Amino acid sequence: MKMVRTAILSLGFIVLLSSMTSCAGPNAAKKPEAKVPEAASTPSTSSGQASAPQAKKPEIIQWVETETGKWMVHDTNRPLPPVVTPGEASCYDKVGTAPSDAIVLFDGNDASKWEGVKNPKAAFPWTVGEGYLETVKDAGFIRSKQKFGSCQLHIEFATPEKVMGSSQGRGNSGIFLMETYEVQVLDSYNNRTYADGQCGALYGRNVPLVNVCRKPGEWQTYDVLFHRPTFKDGKVDRKVRFTIFQNGVLIQDNVELQGGTNWIGQHALTDYVPHGDKGSLSLQDHGNPVKFRNIWVRELKD
Ligand code: MG
Repeated sequence: MKMVRTAILSLGFIVLLSSMTSCAGPNAAKKPEAKVPEAASTPSTSSGQASAPQAKKPEIIQWVETETGKWMVHDTNRPLPPVVTPGEASCYDKVGTAPSDAIVLFDGNDASKWEGVKNPKAAFPWTVGEGYLETVKDAGFIRSKQKFGSCQLHIEFATPEKVMGSSQGRGNSGIFLMETYEVQVLDSYNNRTYADGQCGALYGRNVPLVNVCRKPGEWQTYDVLFHRPTFKDGKVDRKVRFTIFQNGVLIQDNVELQGGTNWIGQHALTDYVPHGDKGSLSLQDHGNPVKFRNIWVRELKD
């Protein structure tokens, strides 16, 4: 009997030692086996007999307050967002199309949604070419007849294929949200200029994260998310925010504009000047021939 008890104790010690060795040994770093979810396992005792079922945990229900009401998380009654049919992306030699809910400002042959800023009643002052608008030297800015506040903007541009000039004199134009806040257009392909004035800059304010310009003459895209400013008591209350992708690459990341982008001297800029809730989209004549196409806007809530 004593021998039997000694054998059992020895066996227990070996099992214990073996299990400790296993935890501290090379297998310790081994990925633990996935736990079987409690609900899927069969409760049993060491003798293999079924045990009493465990008490069910109370269901957690969380609610969210939204513009459309109060809803449970994953509530199937919560209203779905509108369905939008996406447009087609442009490629090198084929212009894309706008999504179904966009306001198309120019799709290739109709400039009727635009006017000259110098003389809005006069004939449209820029060239309407085969699928594009092109700046005309000294014709001045053009602007959309429709006005916008916060919006998503898609616009494509091409600086002249034949390289002329340098620095700010090479393929210069600009896209002005609310006729005020400029996203610079410039031929910045192997063309050095000051960083806060190169292509993709928020002029004089924010340098783009990278220079992702295509070669002169090639079509390029800007996708812009713009949140308008608000004003209170003659001062800016909420500043402009810009996020911009150029040719699909992020170049301005939720940037808060610290003031205006208008030129008043080589090393000076304007401050915010109060204006209305909506303004035209305008395109700059800087004396260089620059083309634009596939321009569309989706209005956003503030
Ligand atoms: Mg410019």
